[in-house]
Amino acid sequence: MNIAWLGQSSAHVTDVGDGHRLHEDIIGPFTAMQKAAARDNIDCQLVSGFRDFERQLAIWNKKWRGDLPLLDYDGQPLNSHQLSDYERMHAILTWSALPGGSRHHWGTDIDVYDKQNVIRHDHKFALVDSEYRAQGPCAALSQWLDVHAREYGFERPYLTYTGGVACELWHLSHQPIAARFEAARDCQQLAVLLSQSQIEGKEIVIKHIETLYEQYVLNKGKTS
Ligand SMILES: [Zn+2]
Repeated sequence: MNIAWLGQSSAHVTDVGDGHRLHEDIIGPFTAMQKAAARDNIDCQLVSGFRDFERQLAIWNKKWRGDLPLLDYDGQPLNSHQLSDYERMHAILTWSALPGGSRHHWGTDIDVYDKQNVIRHDHKFALVDSEYRAQGPCAALSQWLDVHAREYGFERPYLTYTGGVACELWHLSHQPIAARFEAARDCQQLAVLLSQSQIEGKEIVIKHIETLYEQYVLNKGKTS
């Protein structure tokens, strides 16, 4: 479990097609939820399932270098070049996890969208908040999940923004299985892994690791 929580193992995940992998124990609940949603005309499909450490590291490093856009918690673009390293680190963490600290490493957590409705609306999907609210193409899915996700063991760990990870209505966690990974989390292990990795901004990340771990990995938000 120790290396699995950090995204260092893929032994617990299974290929479910379209390039997605899930924890073998959540394929059943996810498929059952998908079928129930389909009966209500909602096409609940994966945007993202399991990601390993290296994949998360690539995302982090691209954001750090400015090769991927940075957004504030409201989804507004930030100018990466005007940010200090400290600000850049927090900006990335609002929307992207630290490599080793992502719930997507577990295969128990997924990002979902309403694929058919996105196609029907001829909508250029960007995985942003407005798509899941009001007249957005994934609003009906989001409302359906409010009512039914729990019946299949799924919770939304990023439902409320408290100064940690931004609100992500699309992110579901299969709580009974995810709890095993949550129990394995350890700040010191994460620090060791990151210090041995090729992460951009390593010095400042390691310097603040205990705060980052509480604020974003545990998603306790701003505690002081
Ligand atoms: Zn997610």
